Amino acid sequence: MVKPSLDASTVYEVCTATARPSGVRKALQGLKETVVKAATAYEVAAAQQAQHTLDHLKHQPDGESATKATKAAKAAKGSINEELKKTYVNRMVGGAGRAVYDKLRGSCHGLCALCGHGAADTLDHQLPKDSFPLLSVVPVNLVPACSRCNHQKKEQAPTHAGDQTLHPYFDGDVHDHLWLFARVTGPPKPSVIFYVDPPADMPPAFAARARHHFATLELSGLYNSQIAYELRSLGMSLAKHPLPPAELREHLQETAEIKAAVEGRNSWKAALYQGLVDSAWYVEGGWEEPWK
Ligand SMILES: [Zn+2]
Repeated sequence: MVKPSLDASTVYEVCTATARPSGVRKALQGLKETVVKAATAYEVAAAQQAQHTLDHLKHQPDGESATKATKAAKAAKGSINEELKKTYVNRMVGGAGRAVYDKLRGSCHGLCALCGHGAADTLDHQLPKDSFPLLSVVPVNLVPACSRCNHQKKEQAPTHAGDQTLHPYFDGDVHDHLWLFARVTGPPKPSVIFYVDPPADMPPAFAARARHHFATLELSGLYNSQIAYELRSLGMSLAKHPLPPAELREHLQETAEIKAAVEGRNSWKAALYQGLVDSAWYVEGGWEEPWK
């Protein structure tokens, strides 16, 4: 996925221009260079899969963490960290920066860039704004996401390279490798298990992150909830036009390749169809089982 071309400085200006009262606005505007510097540091780190090295930005500029209990008190006292976070909630999502929010949210064909399946009804902070207030409205830190993935990911901040979900703007190379697979078994009907199995030549950090992504977002459950209709459609289609095993294998292989080309090599559909190709039971008649 192409990273957003919106620049951090302009977006920050737009989001803070209407902040009230004027004292807060001035304080926020005075932080523009700090935010731009943080955005640059973030981009450099993310391009090297090293967001875990950004500890120096944690809880800046106030420099301390706010617990839930102290958040309200800090906000009342005019904590600039709380104002930065409010800049996302009140000034981007619900304010002058809404057009930016909508543009980012629609940037993956309206789909969640984390699971590739749900509707992108929100933006996910790849590094959470609670820990990284300076990155609250930095475009490259904001990824279109479904509420489910946003909730699953929670407020995680990575502690090492493998401790991060995949970043859609910076981790495209992870899909140079095939690491998502599906095992199809039966009878009485196709049972599918999705799993991650990184190849030996995949860089270890990418391999760890692919596993972390799959586990954190509970993608196995999500994908499994999608397969019933897909397999039913396929079964009904094959019932109308049955194919001998060798031809069926060829047909499924071609479908797997099309799904990989259109939806991605590590998409659940590409994995499912490859799993069907590799299932002797399915190809040799298993596809008929539920509808005999
Ligand atoms: Zn999602």
